[in-house]
Amino acid sequence: MFERYTEKARRTIFFARYEASQFGSPYIESEHLLLGLLREDKVLTNRFLRSYGAVASIRKQIEGHSTVREKVSTSIDLPLTDECKRVLKYASDEAEQLSHKHIGTEHLMLGLLREERCFAAELLRERGLAIEQLREEFAKATWPSEFSRPIPKLRRIPLEIHGCAMDSEYIRGRVNGFRKFKWHWHKSPWKARDLVVDKDGKISFDVTLSAETQNFTLIQGSWKEDRCAICHWELYESKDKPDHGIGHTNGRDWVCTECYETFLSGPDFFASIHPEIT
Ligand SMILES: [Zn+2]
Repeated sequence: MFERYTEKARRTIFFARYEASQFGSPYIESEHLLLGLLREDKVLTNRFLRSYGAVASIRKQIEGHSTVREKVSTSIDLPLTDECKRVLKYASDEAEQLSHKHIGTEHLMLGLLREERCFAAELLRERGLAIEQLREEFAKATWPSEFSRPIPKLRRIPLEIHGCAMDSEYIRGRVNGFRKFKWHWHKSPWKARDLVVDKDGKISFDVTLSAETQNFTLIQGSWKEDRCAICHWELYESKDKPDHGIGHTNGRDWVCTECYETFLSGPDFFASIHPEIT
């Protein structure tokens, strides 16, 4: 079913499944697909949603709208709702209408908007996205064709982190990014971070801005959760859950203990254990 999908589109589906499992949902719904898109394709979503605040506020709205149940293992293959199946069908139609051979994240975004009554479409419309305008943008030759580029067949290996099946190619890309530099990682409890907020509600971690008291307000400890930069495991302040409460940081990024020990502290996991996929 996903043969024509680009790597990014496939990862979007992968993350949609992950999001659904984190909400304990028995199905993958349109809003999980949207969250998958927001995680996977920042170039696309930043271009149309513009601010990080928009992404954070979408997540908040979805959290408010969902009944959070016990998390489901990501190894369980959650089914798509009928609504979601229509979104994928529309994505394929949209690609065809644009004469694109492959189905990319931009087509998934169009698919979400075309399923007008779904929650994801509502969230996108609230932020000013209109399907006609997007179609025009994607039809322009100047739109980066990377979104529609076919992907080479990649060899994948079964990989589990925190007991969940992960996309080995995605993880390998993240790990390689971190191994490029000789970072000094140190173990540390994760602590809520201070933020400054400007008059328009835009946020920044640069707390030195708060010296401009007329323009910025400092809000102490208001950033309450981070994600492992490799596997997206949640990190937050916690004394009784060390796997969430303690991580490793290079001063900029955070990784969970499992990722640090598997991928960063020793020899290259992918090169040493799985030479066939490097
Ligand atoms: Zn991790």
